Amino acid sequence: MAKKVVNLYEILGVKNDATAKEISKAYRALSKTHHPDVSKEENAHEIFQEIHEAYVELSNPESRKQYDDFYEEESKKNEEYTFEHLFSAFHTHVVKPHLPIRGEDIELEVPFCIEDIKQQRTLTVSVERFINCRTCEGANILQALDTGCEGCSGKGFKFENVQTPFGSIKREIQCPECSGAGYTDAQKCPDCKEGKHAVTYQFKVAVGDDVTDGHRMRVAGKGDEGVNGGAHGDLHLVFALKDEDYEIVHEYDLQTKINVPFVTTLTGGDHPMLLPTGEVVKVPIVKGTQSGHKVIVPGEGLYMQSTQKYGDLYATVNILVPDVSPDKVKQIVSILQ
Ligand SMILES: [Zn+2]
Ligand SMILES: [Zn+2]
Repeated sequence: MAKKVVNLYEILGVKNDATAKEISKAYRALSKTHHPDVSKEENAHEIFQEIHEAYVELSNPESRKQYDDFYEEESKKNEEYTFEHLFSAFHTHVVKPHLPIRGEDIELEVPFCIEDIKQQRTLTVSVERFINCRTCEGANILQALDTGCEGCSGKGFKFENVQTPFGSIKREIQCPECSGAGYTDAQKCPDCKEGKHAVTYQFKVAVGDDVTDGHRMRVAGKGDEGVNGGAHGDLHLVFALKDEDYEIVHEYDLQTKINVPFVTTLTGGDHPMLLPTGEVVKVPIVKGTQSGHKVIVPGEGLYMQSTQKYGDLYATVNILVPDVSPDKVKQIVSILQ
């Protein structure tokens, strides 16, 4: 038996006399479970599209009435209809923009610290990108309401004669009357303003040895979506060092501070120091070390691609003077003098 014309109410799982509220409630629930980002179904995108289009038709009282009439008429005929048939019969003229347009690139600063490099961390950044409205595919137009622009006979472009030193040539230009759309009056998409929606996604980026302040990384296709088959833009990550503990010196060496107890500087001895790798090492403090003295920890700097070696870590000594009572200070002073 032939399948009857597609029932949009069945797609949304509501009765034919469902209220606008019931329709939007059903749509919200279905679009959550069937969203292509969530659903594991093989044809998730198509199912989601059908749900969405069913909703678009039924949520507008005018198009719902048109559909109801259409459905009643067509169901009598006992003809087979696919979803595409339904829409090509129901929508007389679906308009799409003419030219593919590449999506915009996005540049994003990625703050990082030295520990991120030394511990090979993976950072998560939030990227805001524009994607095309799924209802109108980025055109912002659902249906042309006129038979076509008179200026260009609905083509969106026309030819003009241009004088050049080699004579007159014909040049194709965008129709100024319809701005290339091919029509001048159209039903705007109810789901978007300019054919786009801003969405935020999380992007994970590994901070490797090659990362340094100002390092750039291009991620192809992760920028704004292209329109009408145009390529997606790229995402450009720009790494920015934000570190209060370490600074980069001589390109591959690191500079930091180390707090050493006063007594250790008097007696000399090993002092524990936390490295940016997360390890703790003992650094030798020579007897009589002064504040500002630099202790070198070899090989704990940044990786140098050209020599395949690591730079060094310089730690500037900051002597911690103990909090001692005035009486004891007198005693100590007398000993030291
Ligand atoms: Zn739209
Ligand atoms: Zn035109």
